[in-house]
Amino acid sequence: MAEKKNYYDVLGVPKTASQADIKSAYRKLAKEYHPDFHPGDAAAAEKFKEINEANEVLSDETKRKQYDYELEHPGMGGGSPFGAGGSPFGAGGFGGFEDIFSSVFGGGFSSQSRAEIRGDDLRYTLNLSFLDAVKGCSKTVKYTRNCACGSCSGTGAKGGTAFQKCQRCGGSGRVKFTQESLFGRTIQVGACPECGGTGKKILEKCPDCKGKGFVKGQTEFTVNIPAGVDNDSRLDKRGGGNYPGAGGEWGDLHVFFRIEPHKMLRRDDKNLYVTVPISYKTAVTGGKILAPAIDGTVEVNIPAGTVSGTKFTLRGKGVKTVNGTGDLCVEVVIDVPRISRDQVKKLQDFEDSVPLKACERMQKYADDLSAIYGKKVEKQ
Ligand SMILES: [Zn+2]
Ligand SMILES: [Zn+2]
Repeated sequence: MAEKKNYYDVLGVPKTASQADIKSAYRKLAKEYHPDFHPGDAAAAEKFKEINEANEVLSDETKRKQYDYELEHPGMGGGSPFGAGGSPFGAGGFGGFEDIFSSVFGGGFSSQSRAEIRGDDLRYTLNLSFLDAVKGCSKTVKYTRNCACGSCSGTGAKGGTAFQKCQRCGGSGRVKFTQESLFGRTIQVGACPECGGTGKKILEKCPDCKGKGFVKGQTEFTVNIPAGVDNDSRLDKRGGGNYPGAGGEWGDLHVFFRIEPHKMLRRDDKNLYVTVPISYKTAVTGGKILAPAIDGTVEVNIPAGTVSGTKFTLRGKGVKTVNGTGDLCVEVVIDVPRISRDQVKKLQDFEDSVPLKACERMQKYADDLSAIYGKKVEKQ
């Protein structure tokens, strides 16, 4: 298969296109390449599929952001965070099609080949370490799902052949029915009630899946997790859900994350926070301290005369996310040691040697207290 096309090129819109531009470009192209107007034209069908796929991503702001991020960071697994592959049965790319289709054409056309039945979506919770989530990583998810039965190729019919065309719908899976409404009589197309939209009638059930077309099986996928995922992030694997049987469409797999907290770093979206204890001497004289960061430790310069609670912001040392890179905020607190009686004496001598006017904040406090409340204090 050829290299995946750029979705913006597929729809012929610039990267800065608005949602309205995308919608309008999509409608125009979907109309032009719809299979109903090009029966048996494989190239048109492929183009139509591409258009739908591009629209599905670009019309969804979350998916679009993710896609833009991947465009700028190639090598993270192509069009999907799950890397190459797509649906195991090559379906997909037609999500939401039915709705858009009827609004473009006002209904009344049949959409061939699209099965009515769709398998359940599945949910998978992936545990990640704090740093794996922040840096991005690749993980294998293993789970049990309903897979297409191998003996009958997912049809439910013995040997995959023991069925015949449904008489009611002639094998299309679709039937027309009329509906009366305020606006008069309309003709609608829906799933054939006889065959459930499959277009087939099973003559002899497959013994291995008892005619269901699916069997329980183990599946595994490698998930390429982009840097910066959080507890509220979700990755979707199209076709990673259950197979419903009878040629239906596979459901999707939704991967959620449970991220372990870090022992030292706290995270809020893309910013990181850490509190670092420093000594009284460092606070007074200044110095270099080490703070924890994503890729090891970073040195932070503490200027002379730093008070407890001062925050230092290290730009760009936070989490790289789709929405940019955050900062690392280092708050310093002066630690108070437990000291001996002898040391208390030395400390008192030291304190007595420091005049109040050398203590800028305490001096101002003493002045204010005296002016407003008439109370005199010195150092306290
Ligand atoms: Zn039928
Ligand atoms: Zn079977």
